[in-house]
Amino acid sequence: SVPAAILSALSAAARGGVLFKGGAALETLAEVKTFAFDKTGTLTTGKAEVKRIISLCGTEDDVLSLFAGIEAHSEHPIAEAIRRAAVARRLVPAVFGEVTAYPSEGITGQDKGQVIWAGNPRMVARMGADLAHPSLNLLQDGSETVVYLGRDARLLGAITVADQPRATSAAGLAALRAVGIDRLLMMTGDRRPVAERIGAALGLRTEDIHSDLLPADKVRLVDELGRDGKVAFVGDGVNDAAALARADVGIAMGAAGSEVALQAAEVALLSDNMERLAEAHRLARRTATIIR
Ligand code: ADP
Ligand code: MG
Repeated sequence: SVPAAILSALSAAARGGVLFKGGAALETLAEVKTFAFDKTGTLTTGKAEVKRIISLCGTEDDVLSLFAGIEAHSEHPIAEAIRRAAVARRLVPAVFGEVTAYPSEGITGQDKGQVIWAGNPRMVARMGADLAHPSLNLLQDGSETVVYLGRDARLLGAITVADQPRATSAAGLAALRAVGIDRLLMMTGDRRPVAERIGAALGLRTEDIHSDLLPADKVRLVDELGRDGKVAFVGDGVNDAAALARADVGIAMGAAGSEVALQAAEVALLSDNMERLAEAHRLARRTATIIR
């Protein structure tokens, strides 16, 4: 049977918006020394904004309505930003079939026997398109996320999307340091310049910022960190599910997180308030002392 101290800690945590699937996760959390965080939608709000639109073919609106049509099928924060930008311009999204998502890469659909796609340089390479274009150099030098759009091997345009740290992220990380967490890291599928901009704003060390990762890279890094002690991974997306499952404690963002992430995790952060993590850790440690 579950000790009363654990039951009461679980309900105290739940009142604070941290939902544990069981007592074991609470006991493991007490031993965690390393917290790794996804960026997009976890350390950042997930309410990204479209900043720039570059059209290599037709108008900006043409490019945006193609983007909105393909991203209509994605729950990624980038997709939401694109849909909002299209609505703001009163655009009618294009309609595509057979849509396939590639986590940490992008999304593809079919249109009259051709492939319409949106995504990062990995997707561009998959489709055999060429990124070298004078109008794109400026975007690539910046610290915003760049998403490319194309049809088969032809690049049609690009947008940039900027996300911002959550209001509670900096304080949440500081609180974890204050309760004795040795190591705080970022693991993101996004580009290096974006990862460093957000990481620097949150006081993360450069060597603790890992960018350009595929879902399997996050798993590999969780394994590596695991050699030095127990690891918690905090994430929101489909691309985080494997790392959430592999970590000693997987913690999913509750309000904005995807269903897949919530299923893979042992803990749900219902309020999406990062400051609750340190409270939960403190509670877990106190409980461990009581039952020992
Ligand atoms: P994070 O690990 O920070 O949550 P992701 O792994 O979800 O980031 O995404 C990494 C990158 O993959 C994005 O910055 C984007 O370039 C690309 N990407 C992922 N999903 C999509 C999508 N639905 N549409 C366009 N690009 C996407
Ligand atoms: Mg994410």
